[in-house]
Amino acid sequence: MSERPTPKTYAVRTFGCQMNEHDSERIAGLLEADGLERVATAEDADVIVLNTCCIRENADNKLYGTLGHLKSLKEQRPDLEIVVGGCLAQKDRELIRERAPHVDVVLGTHNVHRAAELLHEARAHGPIVEILTETVAGDETAFPSALPTRRELDWAAWVTIQIGCDNSCAFCIVPAVRGPEISRPFGELIDEVERLAADGVTEVTLLGQNVNSYGRDLAAALRAGELPADQAAVLAGARWADDLTTGTARRRPLFADLLRAVAAVDGIHRVRFTSPHPKDLLPETIEAMAQAEAVCAHLHLPLQSGSDAVLAAMHRGYTAERYLERLVAARAAIDDLAVTTDIIVGFPGETDEDFARTLDVVAAAEYDSAYTFIYSPRPGTEAAELTDRFVDPAVVGERYERLRVAVERSALARHRARIGRVEEVVVEGPSKRDPDITTGRTAQNKLVHFRASTPLRAGTYATVEVTDARAHHLQGELREVTRPARHRTRIAVVAG
Ligand code: SF4
Repeated sequence: MSERPTPKTYAVRTFGCQMNEHDSERIAGLLEADGLERVATAEDADVIVLNTCCIRENADNKLYGTLGHLKSLKEQRPDLEIVVGGCLAQKDRELIRERAPHVDVVLGTHNVHRAAELLHEARAHGPIVEILTETVAGDETAFPSALPTRRELDWAAWVTIQIGCDNSCAFCIVPAVRGPEISRPFGELIDEVERLAADGVTEVTLLGQNVNSYGRDLAAALRAGELPADQAAVLAGARWADDLTTGTARRRPLFADLLRAVAAVDGIHRVRFTSPHPKDLLPETIEAMAQAEAVCAHLHLPLQSGSDAVLAAMHRGYTAERYLERLVAARAAIDDLAVTTDIIVGFPGETDEDFARTLDVVAAAEYDSAYTFIYSPRPGTEAAELTDRFVDPAVVGERYERLRVAVERSALARHRARIGRVEEVVVEGPSKRDPDITTGRTAQNKLVHFRASTPLRAGTYATVEVTDARAHHLQGELREVTRPARHRTRIAVVAG
């Protein structure tokens, strides 16, 4: 088969979470390093990448619906190349090409770094499905941040610190599609954040399925093996490598150590992370958040349910009481902490009494906001098998509405308490609804809309007086610019 003409442009469409968004940045970086230019719409692209997610509801319908639309586009332009990657691809494998034979490349979650190579192979030899069952051990390209990346924002960056998950929550497909937890070497992470800061990035978000267990595998690897000192220092950070190889230190580096080290990088003004698992939230993490000035006062602590019976059925590893104890400890230690959460309504077997316990925790936690989800079964998970315990959709819908009202009431109260305060925001740009309004985000991750007499570049830090509050955002008046944006307008694609 002769190779098709060389494509010139690409477009990426992402379905799903921040890990997926970051994988998409990485695929974009690989394609740009291969000479392609990004275009805004699929219609103008020679290569279309669909980066899929199987965590969110209706992921299958969205993917196959989009592929149906692309079929007619490919009939008009046979040279169009279509790539499907991500969690759903990892789960569905050959099924994707069976249902959509016009797809050229299917790749999974463990070989995102092969996107450009697989396209070349498909051009030369025809369609290809490559799904690996696990990340290749020692493969430094396994982490989304360790490759050329085309960042969406010049002043902010995601940094993956860990991939996979060792937990087994009954509703979640992640362990099956992302594999066991692997932490990225400490030294490499700090090097990357230093490079990002040198490029003008001022805010980093550390990403992982369970960031609090960061480092557990690194410490185990150091204890088990006889690594040369320089390798040990990269793996665990120079400060702990000696102790670990001689077996005198307990588990280090902790996530707290990483938080402090990233926050100390010159030029980094804000550090965020997502998500910590409540069962693994250590006092050291709370202490690091309280003490390291650059770590934002925002904790996203997924509750999932307030009922101990449901939490046990979910295999979450904590009770409502334990969860609230940790939340109270965090609020006591960290000044002006915003707390957000995820809650699932209608997990199989959830009773009215169970749901009442969830409302109790919501009232006690006084959340700043919450992502609320109606339970929907994900094929391949334990909970999806509990069909005889599925809750009546009408009952779930009514519970969901009550939860939404409770969360909004709590958010509005928290937001109203900020009226009159002067908050620092980082400018994100003009509001999507009204270009005369500027949008910024506070350290507590709150959106603030305000007017500026002259346009402010995205990435500028400014103070804003909060004048009004809604459940989902604040309104304010600009006081002054505190830190002009310092990144270059367009940062070249770099190998990380
Ligand atoms: S901690 Fe639970 S919900 Fe989170 S990724 Fe792991 S299995 Fe899924």
